[in-house]
Amino acid sequence: MKRERALTLIELLTVVVIVLLLLAIMLPVVLYFRKNAQKTHCINNLRQIGTAIQLYRADFGGAFPSRLSLLMSYIKTDEILVCPTEPAGNGLSAIEQVPTNYVSILCDLSDASASINTSDRNVQAAQLLMELDANHGVLVCILHGRRVDDSYMYNGNGPALGSHEGLILRLQADTSVVPVQVFYDTILGPGNTRSLSGWYVFSNVRPCPEAIRRLQPLMLNCPNE
Ligand SMILES: [Zn+2]
Repeated sequence: MKRERALTLIELLTVVVIVLLLLAIMLPVVLYFRKNAQKTHCINNLRQIGTAIQLYRADFGGAFPSRLSLLMSYIKTDEILVCPTEPAGNGLSAIEQVPTNYVSILCDLSDASASINTSDRNVQAAQLLMELDANHGVLVCILHGRRVDDSYMYNGNGPALGSHEGLILRLQADTSVVPVQVFYDTILGPGNTRSLSGWYVFSNVRPCPEAIRRLQPLMLNCPNE
């Protein structure tokens, strides 16, 4: 009877090396497709939020909702308020009162569009944004950029603008979603901290207007050029 030959050590090692090589080649490809799928999912989320905001504005004389929780009757599920790149359990925003990791300027836009509290520098900045840029940003997902500062992450309010830079996703007033290139920079304001310029995150107007520079709003700040 013919005895089956076992694999020699060298043959076994060769197989192991080939399998490891294949994994090394496949991993970046798998990660690339996963990242792209997550981005597409996020763009869909942002578009649905945009549509809900438009429905809300139609019901409330054009005013923006002051927070995402006001959109609950206009959306099917609050799952669309969280980017799929976000690890489960993180990024719950206390400010928005619903699970979300999207950074919004809804609060300022709401007061500005309803002409409330016009002495507030943040509201004045939002009014300027709406005047100068009809299709301004409303909400952004910064998680598709590059993480630059962990200290900004998950301080109880979800990711902050200072945590990432690079190509981020922006939902605009007309419900379009566009990629925006933003850079971590020193910003004006109390403490001159390093962060993203909120004006460049939410507006297409370059350079940052002098009026905004003077106002030093909290969210729509200019970079320290
Ligand atoms: Zn996202």
